[in-house]
Amino acid sequence: MENGDANGKPKRAVGRLCSICNQKKPALKRPKTLEQICRECFYSVFEEEIHNVIVDNHLFKPGERIAVAASGGKDSTVLAYVLSELNRRHNYGLDLFLLSVDEGITGYRDDSLETVKRNEVQYGLPLKVVSYKDLYSWTMDEIVKTIGLKNNCTFCGVFRRQALDRGAALMRADKLVTGHNADDMAETVLLNILRGDIARLSRCTFIITGEDGPIPRCKPFKYTYEKEIVMYAYFKKLDYFSTECIYSPNAYRGFAREFIKDLERIRPQAILDIIRSGENFRISTSTKMPEQGTCERCGYISSQKLCKACLLLEGLNRGLPKLGIGRSRGLNSAKEDGEQRMLRSEVKGSNLQSKQCGTLDF
Ligand code: SF4
Ligand code: ZN
Repeated sequence: MENGDANGKPKRAVGRLCSICNQKKPALKRPKTLEQICRECFYSVFEEEIHNVIVDNHLFKPGERIAVAASGGKDSTVLAYVLSELNRRHNYGLDLFLLSVDEGITGYRDDSLETVKRNEVQYGLPLKVVSYKDLYSWTMDEIVKTIGLKNNCTFCGVFRRQALDRGAALMRADKLVTGHNADDMAETVLLNILRGDIARLSRCTFIITGEDGPIPRCKPFKYTYEKEIVMYAYFKKLDYFSTECIYSPNAYRGFAREFIKDLERIRPQAILDIIRSGENFRISTSTKMPEQGTCERCGYISSQKLCKACLLLEGLNRGLPKLGIGRSRGLNSAKEDGEQRMLRSEVKGSNLQSKQCGTLDF
């Protein structure tokens, strides 16, 4: 790099060119690397990094039917857009479609579903919507009316996970892709350390999960920074919905999120470092891992007699909504005592993970 121009005057940063193509004026400072680059180079590094993650990790096979979990938010909208671009450009041979969950949250999900319906037309991807009302006979509005605003995300997170699996199975999908990004991943590593959840810590950084379950899930954005997703959506003028859920509690996970953002401000690499740390944890052979079976009521994958969704539903339907959450009273028989214990241990595992929407499924 030269230090001055023809007249020997020091060269000003203003005159600099894109550090990738060296031709155009930079339009942004890339959050991941702090490089000053032009818009076209940003699109191409952003998309190519995702392509490399897909290829290096063998995420897809030609001919597979892929459900893109679509909430209408920035992550899943960019995911649907980029995947359909890459599928065309690199001939992945995938049959992509959008899968949305309608939790029944008036003033939030009904509006964001409108965005997904527009995406269906804009990207030419068919859309399937599954609803809590149809699957569980309860909407989140009704659940919140019954239980209040304390543990709503626990119900919602457990129900969403199953709803996506059921929707994907209904549509005969081979895989489900979610828009979890590098920030979400780092946050989850941190949360699992904070709560000492060794079982989750070991699998929360996997790029593909649930290969032994009904539908494998993968995260093509595992190394993609949230800030870059926002920039990409902004520059490409993608149509997404940015309002937060009206029932969002922003508790524990919110603090972890802020902490990671602070670290990123000082050292952008911190996000990737936390993910790498998570990847390199090894579980000691003496750690007891839960055994997987199936729920005896609905057949869904579960390490207990009943899956989490069935346990929570049982509480709701019996008018004892707190049954599934922490301590409960009103169950006297020996059988119910056992059930209560089981409920508590099942649900305990999902509390922290379910604090914020969209980052529930690690
Ligand atoms: Fe459900 Fe997310 Fe709203 Fe919580 S914040 S109630 S998990 S949609
Ligand atoms: Zn079940």
